[in-house]
Amino acid sequence: MEINYCQHCNVPILGKRCDICKSTKLGKLRFHDMGDIRPISKGERSVLLRELHRKEIRDYLRSRLILLARQPGLDYRRDVFVDGFKMGTLEYIKEQHWRYRFIPTGKGAALFRALTGEVDFNIDMKGHIKGKRINENFDGDWALLSAGNCTAVAVHGNKYSKVKDVFCRKVKPRKKTGIRELVIANKTYIDNIERKAVRYIRSRGADYVAFSGGKDSEVALYLAHKAGVTKAIYANTGMEFPETERFVYNYADFLGIELIELKPKQDFWSIAEEKGIPTKDSRWCTKALKLEGIKRFKGTMVDGSRKYESLARMMRSNERKLGNLRVIYPIRDWLALDIWTFIYARGLPYNPLYDMGYERIGCYMCPAMLNAEFHHVRDTHPRLYKKWYNYLQSLGYTKEEILDGVWRWRDTPKKMRSMIQK
Ligand SMILES: [Zn+2]
Repeated sequence: MEINYCQHCNVPILGKRCDICKSTKLGKLRFHDMGDIRPISKGERSVLLRELHRKEIRDYLRSRLILLARQPGLDYRRDVFVDGFKMGTLEYIKEQHWRYRFIPTGKGAALFRALTGEVDFNIDMKGHIKGKRINENFDGDWALLSAGNCTAVAVHGNKYSKVKDVFCRKVKPRKKTGIRELVIANKTYIDNIERKAVRYIRSRGADYVAFSGGKDSEVALYLAHKAGVTKAIYANTGMEFPETERFVYNYADFLGIELIELKPKQDFWSIAEEKGIPTKDSRWCTKALKLEGIKRFKGTMVDGSRKYESLARMMRSNERKLGNLRVIYPIRDWLALDIWTFIYARGLPYNPLYDMGYERIGCYMCPAMLNAEFHHVRDTHPRLYKKWYNYLQSLGYTKEEILDGVWRWRDTPKKMRSMIQK
């Protein structure tokens, strides 16, 4: 996938024209097909800065617009974009322990070199050096090299260190742009996608909006409210983060919309006693805790699901039936970057969990979570984490199995098993 990029204003362009310089001559920013590109959160920015040890680099990246795009992988893996190019990859890996690792691209390394004026060492190699063996020793995950006119990144391999990537031009530090510029440069585009979605909802005559407290459903709710819908349905699973429960009510008040809160007939813990915990390959939870209640409504319901949101989500059509409800998806084609630009442009409040570094909002022990996210719960919500941890232990899971997240499957996939056994 790709979006446009105005090199002159140093800002991503979601439509076809930059509203700052009015130019339609735009560059491209390419990312993985299911990347669902978005701005970095506060929490992830601190993780990234922690991985970068030089002050000049940290200062440069501290409040600049950084975009993340998902890369397929076994756990958290995000391509990191700055100034319109891929600066590196941030991922969550297991060695002795689970941890984050950032590796720059050659171009990212060239930017770091320009910022610090230094490299870790010079090597006397020319030509195609990518993949070549390096004899110098270094600490940390990577080293910055100069090789002739090129800048290179070295990483540790199984037996020896090698050149991971090379970039042979100079990279100049750019003027700083942030969320403010993103919003100004995309004003017309945001107005247009809003108008289109509101018109679509009106044409279907919607009665309700599904509201989960996440960013997509808050935008769907905003749009539906503009289209004249007055009722939001919040299916509380009983396993929500406290921030979500509070935000759902605050946001409904903010818009002045009626909130209908549903609770499951049978609670999570008692279903889990009967059926076992929900897992990725046996996910009874959404149906039992959310859909059963929602299905009792009649009419048309707006839903904020998007097709880029998850690798698994297949959204072939704009509508579906759920019991007696017709469900419509007015923001099905939006990217996460559309969603965030919209939220910033309209000055909407959002769930505080995003700033803490959560990418998707759901139950605090959702089996669909990445292990990085589950470990994050330990830091941000130690009591909820402990509660789930103790429950898993009572089911017979060992400490290591819990930390490796194998409880998220009934049958742990082979790929995952080989990753955690390293
Ligand atoms: Zn521009």
